[in-house]
Amino acid sequence: MKNKGFNFDSKVKREGAFIYRPKSIRQLFTGKGNIAFIGEAAGAISPSSAEGFSYALKSALYLSESLNNGLDGFMNRYKRKMRKLKFNILLKNLKSPGMYNPTIRKMVMKSGLESMEVEKYLK
Ligand SMILES: Cc1cc2nc3c(=O)[nH]c(=O)nc-3n(C[C@H](O)[C@H](O)[C@H](O)COP(=O)(O)OP(=O)(O)OC[C@H]3O[C@@H](n4cnc5c(N)ncnc54)[C@H](O)[C@@H]3O)c2cc1C
Repeated sequence: MKNKGFNFDSKVKREGAFIYRPKSIRQLFTGKGNIAFIGEAAGAISPSSAEGFSYALKSALYLSESLNNGLDGFMNRYKRKMRKLKFNILLKNLKSPGMYNPTIRKMVMKSGLESMEVEKYLK
């Protein structure tokens, strides 16, 4: 980005927030009885990148789909749908140690793996 003329010399403000990363998919909790959890409340956040928008939206969709057939058995339907999301978080957990190791992280960032093309947006 520096090569493209962006100047990162003068830092104006720095902010951070603590997050709870699910280290095991057992930490994901879809709910109990008639109380269901979605998004971060259910523990659905990426343990490697701390992204949670897509998980919040997906779990909300899964819950609404589960409720479409009524309250009867909705929790089991929701739990079943959430398996996909849990599996995805399991995979992210495998990736996580690499992402929190500065050397490996630097190598991945440099490789451009899973990066999007920004050049065309800078013209
Ligand atoms: C600094 C930062 C940057 C992030 N950047 C990204 C990013 O680039 N991409 C990405 O995918 N994710 C990102 N995330 C994560 C993402 O913001 C969250 O995972 C996502 O917003 C979770 O959505 P949610 O609806 O589950 O919870 P939230 O968005 O936290 O919504 C919960 C809501 O419930 C309200 N609430 C809490 N308690 C009560 C109560 N008792 N009564 C009523 N209301 C209550 C809260 O005020 C809040 O509005 C970031 C998070 C942080 C902190």
